[in-house]
Amino acid sequence: MSNSLVLVINSGSSSLKFALIDTVSGEATLNGLGECFGLADANVSWKIDGKKHEFQLSDNGNHHKQAIDRIVALLEEQGIKQDIVAVGHRVVHGGEKFTQTVKIDETVLQEIENLSDLAPLHNPAHVVGMRAAIAAFPALSQYAVFDTAFHQTMPAKAYTGAISSKLYDDYGIRRYGFHGTSHYFVSREAAKVINKPIEKSSFISVHLGNGASVCAIKDGQSVDTSMGFTPLSGLMMGTRCGDLDPGIIEFLLKKGWSPEQVFKELNSNSGFLGVSGLTSDCRGVIEAMEEGHVGATLAFEIFTYRVAKYIASYMVALDELDGIIFTGGIGENSLPIRSQILKSLKIFGYREDEAANADARFGKDGVITQANTPLAMVIPTNEEWVIAKESMALLHA
Ligand code: AMP
Repeated sequence: MSNSLVLVINSGSSSLKFALIDTVSGEATLNGLGECFGLADANVSWKIDGKKHEFQLSDNGNHHKQAIDRIVALLEEQGIKQDIVAVGHRVVHGGEKFTQTVKIDETVLQEIENLSDLAPLHNPAHVVGMRAAIAAFPALSQYAVFDTAFHQTMPAKAYTGAISSKLYDDYGIRRYGFHGTSHYFVSREAAKVINKPIEKSSFISVHLGNGASVCAIKDGQSVDTSMGFTPLSGLMMGTRCGDLDPGIIEFLLKKGWSPEQVFKELNSNSGFLGVSGLTSDCRGVIEAMEEGHVGATLAFEIFTYRVAKYIASYMVALDELDGIIFTGGIGENSLPIRSQILKSLKIFGYREDEAANADARFGKDGVITQANTPLAMVIPTNEEWVIAKESMALLHA
């Protein structure tokens, strides 16, 4: 195990996820979560041998630093701190500046902070987490892996809005796309399944989780994706509305809603939660639908219809299509969601293999369409592993 461990950190504004990845086996030997930062019950928890441990953080502030210090102590207790060779950080927004993984130094930290305008909830929190990790592991090289980087290959016609170029020039308003690390990983795995070099493979990758996006991948590169300037656009999500007529915003503002109220509504009260009126969780929606709940049934229908519409529209971005890839918590596990999406794509020849669809769940991959029909498959995503591998590759570059 020694010399193959990378600590992967995903630092949010009120939370910090961590995982210790063995880059040889691909396994997470330890993972955990710091939560409720800024509140009285801030804590860090982790699992060892299936047993959960929790540590309460003190209320004298700087919970990111406290959490990282506790993680360091944990690694020392486990006798594995000295085996860690690098730290990899997930970063939501790299703007147009970062097209690949980079080693973190003061200039990079400044640049990530400068992009905070584009990701006000995420980038400042990443920098806080990075500074705490640098203080805790001063001798280790640390790397930033960007959610947006994979999408930097999109052509201008895909990333440019049909708006005045002044908005792009002055504010950088364009499509950036997110979930890039996931789309990158599953497309590489899918190429192995079909036994083709990734540079010659084209896929439509469908990441369906609490956040959801579709990506058209041509010859291994992202050429279009459904999330845009922010992660609000495209598909319907757990609490986000996805695509919506921007005129509705003006309408609500004129009705007396504040901008904050409008965007809270579209980000936090919409999607599965808003339409079903019950829950943002796909499992809860499906259970309620099976009991005949009208709102849950409509939520299921809108969600699957919209995914199918995006898949169909992305056919025009590709010259050929080797397969549709389902991933993310919903894409990896929900049989009825996948089944309905494939039914909606019947006109393109997709035919579900029911037994295979039922089998490809809970971490199992597999092709879920019938032989001699267009291919759709399930590939469990593993963003932490990509972050660890990219960090390791740069360390040895
Ligand atoms: P993620 O954001 O990728 O962790 O995905 C979270 C979403 O996956 C939630 O909406 C969960 O309800 C959904 N999910 C997880 N397991 C299942 C399952 N077995 N069936 C349907 N949805 C699931």
